[in-house]
Amino acid sequence: VLLANNQEVLAYVIGGLLIGAVLVSAVGLVRDRYYAILIARILRDIRAKLFVHLHNLSMGFFSQAKSGDLLGHFSTDLTMVESAIAGGVTSLILPALDVFASCILLFFIDWRLAIVSMLVWPMALLGPRYFAPKVSMVSNQLQQTKAATLGIIQEDLSAQPVIKVFNLADDIIAKFKAQNEQQTDVLARVGFFSSMVERSANIGILFLQVVLVGIGALMVSKQLLTIGSLAAFQTLFASLSYSLSEVTRYLPRLVEANCGIQRIEKILSEVPALDERKDGKALDNVDGELTFRDVSFGYEKDRMNLSNIDLVIEPGKSVAFVGPSGSGKSTVLSLAMRSYDPVQGSVLMGGIDLRESSLASLRNQLAVVFQESFLFDLPVRDNIRIGKKDATQEEIEAAARAAGIHETIMKMPAGYDTMAGEKGKNFSGGQRQRLAIARAILRNPRILILDEATSALDPSTEASINETLLQLSKSRTTLSVTHRLSSVVNCDRIYYLEDGKILEHGSYQDLMAQNGRFRDLWEKQHGFSFSENGNASVSIERMLAIPIFSVLDRPVLEDCVQMFTTETAPPDRIVTAEGDIGSSMYIIVRGKVEVFKRNDAGKEIVLTTLSDGDYFGEISLLRSVPRTASVRTLAHCVFMTIQNQHFLELVKHSPELLKKLEETVESRLKRDKEIMRS
Ligand code: ATP
Repeated sequence: VLLANNQEVLAYVIGGLLIGAVLVSAVGLVRDRYYAILIARILRDIRAKLFVHLHNLSMGFFSQAKSGDLLGHFSTDLTMVESAIAGGVTSLILPALDVFASCILLFFIDWRLAIVSMLVWPMALLGPRYFAPKVSMVSNQLQQTKAATLGIIQEDLSAQPVIKVFNLADDIIAKFKAQNEQQTDVLARVGFFSSMVERSANIGILFLQVVLVGIGALMVSKQLLTIGSLAAFQTLFASLSYSLSEVTRYLPRLVEANCGIQRIEKILSEVPALDERKDGKALDNVDGELTFRDVSFGYEKDRMNLSNIDLVIEPGKSVAFVGPSGSGKSTVLSLAMRSYDPVQGSVLMGGIDLRESSLASLRNQLAVVFQESFLFDLPVRDNIRIGKKDATQEEIEAAARAAGIHETIMKMPAGYDTMAGEKGKNFSGGQRQRLAIARAILRNPRILILDEATSALDPSTEASINETLLQLSKSRTTLSVTHRLSSVVNCDRIYYLEDGKILEHGSYQDLMAQNGRFRDLWEKQHGFSFSENGNASVSIERMLAIPIFSVLDRPVLEDCVQMFTTETAPPDRIVTAEGDIGSSMYIIVRGKVEVFKRNDAGKEIVLTTLSDGDYFGEISLLRSVPRTASVRTLAHCVFMTIQNQHFLELVKHSPELLKKLEETVESRLKRDKEIMRS
């Protein structure tokens, strides 16, 4: 057109280009809009599928899974998928169409040069073929490293009290820095291999361009090709190369997204451990009788945590499970709620095997109050309504009144609209438990389950909540687990467990008459009393049951009990730290603690848990030595403590007494060493 100066055709060409530009822009706008909606919906569907699937998985899955990993599926994995889909049209489909069209046109311009230019395919694809699997491998590593980094941050945030008390900040920072270095290293490798996918293709294309210019120029000089055709060929080949490198630039994103999809698919292929029958029997008309028939269960295949449990709980009766920590009390409750299925034997409600029942109908028969009740960050009204979704305001208020929390709610400026705050932080521990009880009352369950429902509370709140629970349990089957025996006296039947077996059972009177393990535990927990202002005291008889005090004469003991002071501590507090020089002994009047050490790798090893009536730190009464382990509270605790200087003041005048005390300390040290070794 230009050489012939054909104005008319030029006008048509320009006009055609203009229409093309308008069309391309309009189609582009429509495409952008619908593509954005499409991407958002694809991600919405994956997110929803994942979230719904997580709710079908068993408690066993959640107790094994790391929350950092699970969150990673919703954040990093989905972000990678989003990035890949977002570039799908602009970086894959359109450039691919462009490459396809350009290839055909090249053959129209000059088939000989076009054949040479087809070398572009191996040149552009060999490099990516070699580097793409490497990108896949390192981006998988990157996701794992990111999850580990998130894990450290998460642990660090929740472990601040321990970190501060133990001066662990330097260790944790060092650990984080090492992890951060590792992530940096993997990220750099991902970056390098990703750019090598693109670079290796570009290098091939660049050399091919030089070759094509050379051959083209030679053909022009031999008059096998016109200059115009060479220019058109080069322009088209440049456009083809650009589109091809756009595709290769996009490939790493596709590879990374594939890794993300694989990780998501792995979760989606996780099967629920509970096999729920589609035609499961409804339990609406059963009477609340619960039977364990030769039940054995283990969280792991090779170790049973409950063995051959046989029991029948009659409708309307209240039973309690007691025993040392780790004996399997909470596991019995988990099986009754069908959080797990027994490995052997069966659990039946109203004569129906729970495996054959409908899970939803089973859960409708139950209400549970846990040791720590979870409140959602919703108004109080909605937190109580969780017990019965269609409850009216009157029903909610009646339940709150019965749980003894109505007055407290009404005193709040927003009343039932008061937000509970994150994890219910706007309410105290006792108030949270009362709200959980209100939920349970609202549900009016056939079976009430109390899992250490009052253990985290201080003595006075505990007593008043126990009173409320007693009322609530009167009209229904109640299963409770507690380590505090005074709250099980009125139960119809008590089961004493040890190592996953029922060792004793019967009423409180029966068990006391048996003079067995229950009675030992009872006596360990008794002999303590509280004054009105909350100060604890201990009887002389109870003191005599503690070896280090058993060698003291009665008058010395009478002075000794006066020297105890009362200390309280909330859950998750470090009471004594390993390595500190001990100066006092602690008796646990109420509560639960864990004794732990750190191994060489800095990991916490729990040696034992102690509860009501146990004691620790008695060696420091005689010797100023570093503590051999740390103690952390697991629940609200009340301790009686005595300082070594006061104790020594009492006993230092009697060398004979000191000798006896030394002997008891020696035997205690020997026992401690054996525990540490094992
Ligand atoms: P505590 O009084 O300390 O709450 P418990 O008598 O209620 O103890 P369970 O919680 O039933 O004891 O635990 C019984 C045993 O099963 C323990 O050895 C415990 O370590 C183990 N266990 C509990 N939950 C799990 C789990 N999710 N995965 C693996 N083992 C578990």
